[in-house]
Amino acid sequence: EPGVVIVGAGQAGSELATSLRTQGHAGGIVVVGDERWLPYRRPPLSKTFLAGDAAPESLEIKPAALYAKLDIEVQTGVGVETIDREARSVRLYDGRALPYSTLVLATGGHARRLAIAGADRPNVHGIRGIDDVLRLRADFVPGRRLVVVGGGYIGLETAAVAVQHGLSVTVVEAAPRVLPRVASPALSQFYLDLHRERGVDVRLGLGVHAFEGAERVETVVLADGSRIDADLVVVGIGIVPNTELAETAGLEVADGIVVDSATRTSDPAILAIGDCSHHHNARYDRRMRLESVPNAMEQARVAAALICGKPAEYRAVPWFWSDQYELKLQMVGLAEGHDRIVLRGDMGERAFVQFHLRDGVVVAADAVNRPQEFALARRMVTEGARPDPQKLGDPAMALKDLV
Ligand code: FAD
Repeated sequence: EPGVVIVGAGQAGSELATSLRTQGHAGGIVVVGDERWLPYRRPPLSKTFLAGDAAPESLEIKPAALYAKLDIEVQTGVGVETIDREARSVRLYDGRALPYSTLVLATGGHARRLAIAGADRPNVHGIRGIDDVLRLRADFVPGRRLVVVGGGYIGLETAAVAVQHGLSVTVVEAAPRVLPRVASPALSQFYLDLHRERGVDVRLGLGVHAFEGAERVETVVLADGSRIDADLVVVGIGIVPNTELAETAGLEVADGIVVDSATRTSDPAILAIGDCSHHHNARYDRRMRLESVPNAMEQARVAAALICGKPAEYRAVPWFWSDQYELKLQMVGLAEGHDRIVLRGDMGERAFVQFHLRDGVVVAADAVNRPQEFALARRMVTEGARPDPQKLGDPAMALKDLV
């Protein structure tokens, strides 16, 4: 009897498998993952796990015993090579065929590589999986000179861990500010100041032109000709969704596997969830691709509901977090189209919330070291609250009274 086959043993695949059981699915569930690890949490890879000596097993999302107890078969270390949609079967790289009733693609993404010579040298690292970080850890030695290419979350988190670990760190960002894709200019400035104060050399507005060195990269040459000596390089310039399998099978793909708000691809027997999906969000009535744990989890639950015959709609408000030094950044909503920013608290004190309003409605919020206010801000965004901006910006007014 063919059951549910999940391709990708990551955050979304693991959540889907267990959600299927809690939502009452009785048939077979097989999770196939090409990494050698049971599903694990990636966020610590650029945070605590990077500098420490924690074992990979400490990152496991669920213990092996739980999958066994729920009768979920997890096959690690083997990838899915092709999908035969007519026969409703996938072929694994080891030659086996697995029939499915429903196939779910939860293939995530891979680290984007720099398209310059030398990007494949052994001291140039990406950070997507445990194995990347185990390799990087061997190079992550106090006193060494690290060049981080990319001033996004992963680059900045890596820089923070590295400088705290005694490496000397330069961050190179091609855009004129850090966190260019996600943060407001004021928040970018806040993080720039923070990193510089902690001793990170941040170079903005300059791309990497070349890597020089014999066997390993020894010098990073920037677009303006300036040269930075390096013992190791970390490249954090985003991810590319893993869509090859879907593309080859003739599914619709556009910066991710295209799915509707119930997670269905253009073939209704095949669903896609998590980082690899370009999904329709019913709340915003548009498609987007997100790279976050909350998105992977929520989409997994929507897919589980669909498979269990209780179709649900994906309409979650996106949210995300990042840890740098002792600061917790949490962001919720989509700030695009905002016409007003209200700051609550003092950036200088490193504890504040920045609200984005559109026509008086709170559409997004960024909180730094304000987890309780963040929880309320999330509710405001979800409910489309229209607080008095004066009160919103006044820390003396309790936020819970404005929700
Ligand atoms: P993944 O977790 O990437 O799982 C996909 C799995 O599928 C992988 O194991 C992949 O190897 C496998 N696979 C791909 N193709 C095949 C195939 N053909 N056959 C078999 N297996 C296949 N998010 C946050 O919300 N907060 C954070 O602070 C945060 N920090 C992060 C830090 C780092 C360093 C990284 C890399 C990510 C971070 N994220 C964070 C993002 C978050 O981890 C991802 O959004 C989440 O893991 C997505 O889950 P997923 O299941 O879609 O993909």
